Amino acid sequence: MRNADIFEESKKYMPGGVNSPVRAYKGLDIDPPVIARGEGAYLTDEDGKVYTDYVGAWGPMILGHADRDVVEAMIETTKKGIAFGSPTELELRLSRHICQTVDNVDMIRMVNSGTEATMSASRLARGYTGRSKIVKFGGCYHGHFDGFLISAGSGVMTEGIPGSEGVPEEIIRNTLLADYNDIESVKSLFEKHGEDIAGVIIEPVAGNMGVVPAKPEFLEELDKLCKRHGALHIFDEVMTGFRVAYKGAQSLYGIAPDITTFAKVMGGGLPSGAYGGRRDIMEKLSPLGGVYQAGTMSGNPIVMAAGYATLKKLHENPNIYDHIERLAEKMESGVLEIAKEKGLPVVVNRFKSMMTIFYNQGGKVESYEDAKASDTELYSKVFKHMTASGVYMSPSQFEAMFFSAAHTESDIDRFLEALRQF
Ligand code: PMP
Repeated sequence: MRNADIFEESKKYMPGGVNSPVRAYKGLDIDPPVIARGEGAYLTDEDGKVYTDYVGAWGPMILGHADRDVVEAMIETTKKGIAFGSPTELELRLSRHICQTVDNVDMIRMVNSGTEATMSASRLARGYTGRSKIVKFGGCYHGHFDGFLISAGSGVMTEGIPGSEGVPEEIIRNTLLADYNDIESVKSLFEKHGEDIAGVIIEPVAGNMGVVPAKPEFLEELDKLCKRHGALHIFDEVMTGFRVAYKGAQSLYGIAPDITTFAKVMGGGLPSGAYGGRRDIMEKLSPLGGVYQAGTMSGNPIVMAAGYATLKKLHENPNIYDHIERLAEKMESGVLEIAKEKGLPVVVNRFKSMMTIFYNQGGKVESYEDAKASDTELYSKVFKHMTASGVYMSPSQFEAMFFSAAHTESDIDRFLEALRQF
């Protein structure tokens, strides 16, 4: 059993055997598959077991694994040199393409992860406004930057308390916590701290408490509040960008954020991130302005090539979005039917192709509180059954499922058949 041996050995050298916590399957009495290869919609582990993948590397793999065009673009680029730390045409190609695609992005800066993108966006908002506080929402995840690692655990909490050891209270004090889909919670923060709020960051479709879409009127009100108080509206489209629509969630909601953050799909599966926005804001960045942010690997040629190949393919094949949404719809209705048959308490939240099956008695999940009321034990039981049946999905209830161009209707049929066996 190579899989178990590798994971056991990994625990000696890497905390929990992993490089990112959720991969460790903590609290479940099964080991995670150790992945040997991925092709299209399928992953194969070191024991040779094949899984249909609904994690998609947590979002990036919208074209499926080892997409031929993306791989080829990377190989061709690699042959010409791996990293230069200097301007390249590849950076221009991807940057121009994103600016020409996303309505509210005039200029963009490439970084190496979603965390870097949101961290830098918050620094930029502070630099631009000369203010210190950022509002975030409970249940939204913006990466592991100190300032955003606020205990998202309590809706009554409006002042920052660190959500991880090692985060000083002095840092988190400048993060204010509001309730998702609750405009009154934002209003009261603006009433109290209006002069000090540099920006409000939000996942327009939350994916990190499971999928919970923002209500359109909530986002509209939020945008008005930001404008009225001179705070920047930051859309974290790390997950939604190029995923829910080619032009992002902002194009569907009709909101014009001041700054947008990206990662995942835009990098084609390589370590990547970016933040962009209005020209006058972006021109505050060094070397033009006084807000410093830099990176040895930022704009790396191979990442740029993979990202551009991915976006180009999506651009040329808009039917991919219809395809993945159709698959998600099929799964949604199938799951609801099975849940009804079996009397399982299920709520399916789906926004385009982003979807979470909540095991939840409440009948709806519209807030962080609703999401937290989900039956995580039942989720774990279903998860283990599905894993044994060859379905690779998130071990946590509070994540989105991802579909790719490579998934087919028969994949969904097999998923539903496996669920029916539960
Ligand atoms: N923002 C959002 C909305 C995310 O979903 C994530 C990661 N899941 C991040 C930021 C952080 O991105 P990264 O893991 O690339 O640092």
